[in-house]
Amino acid sequence: MNGVPVPPERVSAAQRVAGVLVPGARVALTTHVNADGDGVGSEVALWHLFTEHGLRPAITNPTPIPERFDFLLPEGADHSARAAKEIESADVVIVLDISDIGRLGDLQRAIERSRAVACIDHHVSPGSLPDGPRLVAPEAAATAELVFDFASAVGWQLCPEAARALYVGILTDTGAFRFSNTTPRVLRIAGALLERGVDPESIYESVYASAPEGRVRLMTEVLQTLVVEPDIGLAWVTVPPDALQRHRATADDLDGIVEYPRSIAGVRLALLFRHIANGRVKVSFRSLGGVDVHELAHRFGGGGHKKAAGASLEGSLAEVQEQVLAAARNYLVGTRARAPSR
Ligand code: AMP
Ligand code: MN
Ligand code: MN
Repeated sequence: MNGVPVPPERVSAAQRVAGVLVPGARVALTTHVNADGDGVGSEVALWHLFTEHGLRPAITNPTPIPERFDFLLPEGADHSARAAKEIESADVVIVLDISDIGRLGDLQRAIERSRAVACIDHHVSPGSLPDGPRLVAPEAAATAELVFDFASAVGWQLCPEAARALYVGILTDTGAFRFSNTTPRVLRIAGALLERGVDPESIYESVYASAPEGRVRLMTEVLQTLVVEPDIGLAWVTVPPDALQRHRATADDLDGIVEYPRSIAGVRLALLFRHIANGRVKVSFRSLGGVDVHELAHRFGGGGHKKAAGASLEGSLAEVQEQVLAAARNYLVGTRARAPSR
């Protein structure tokens, strides 16, 4: 339908999701806290598809959509300011880019009370959402790839705005087509999206080259904290506790900083530590080669993917660093013998 064949198991999963979308239904679209390009892109694409096909969609996120993605948002689509209410009155909720209810922040309770909860996601996780139809494939590069497949499976054509939103999801989750999830298939999908009118240069400008000055100043400060342990291939950076406030930045402005410690020759595991609310510290894990950060993050109650994962731990920055760095050193020493060379 949209130019790239869809595997049969994804077609049947997509049809099960479509099965709960009766004409006229109110559909709440949501994603994990601190939405990224994949979450927002997937929501916006579905918002267009649903609007065109007689449904009543609303975007209902647990935290505000980063300004970086405002250019994608159709007027009146974002109801995140009253998300819990919208979710409670919706006929169906579709959870995008996450399968764990714990990552839905304050919306957890509203979602547990929902009439029907569907999920479209690519995380490595058995999931903890209420039962419902699920289009889940950890081998997909992005949730946006699965939304593309959903549209193809149900025979819906993507309008240029939906195509653009899916392109942003794929672009951001593959690190602009650099990470190991850059598969031939996802590049074919990106090609099909360009054929629907997507302009990659203008998207590059909106997503990566419209930064507030504070984002760059924040980055210089975070990079100053770099520590490298070259013998085991470990590097990390720490966000100074008041830095976001001082630079009037948000969590979204930190996106991509952890790529710098990862980019050092010989580094196999890179970490970013950041104090968040309620005495907790968020850790971002990134790896190269055979290092499985999903496994590491999972030990601390987090998750994600093999080469990009996250966790949020209780404790001070110093306590969490001590704990996580000890586990990381142990892991790296244990895997050094079988590590592939870069
Ligand atoms: P981040 O480090 O926030 O860019 O996240 C990297 C990957 O890990 C993404 O796929 C996230 O969805 C996932 N992730 C981040 N934080 C958590 C968490 N606390 N629990 C589970 N997965 C997470
Ligand atoms: Mn995400
Ligand atoms: Mn994703």
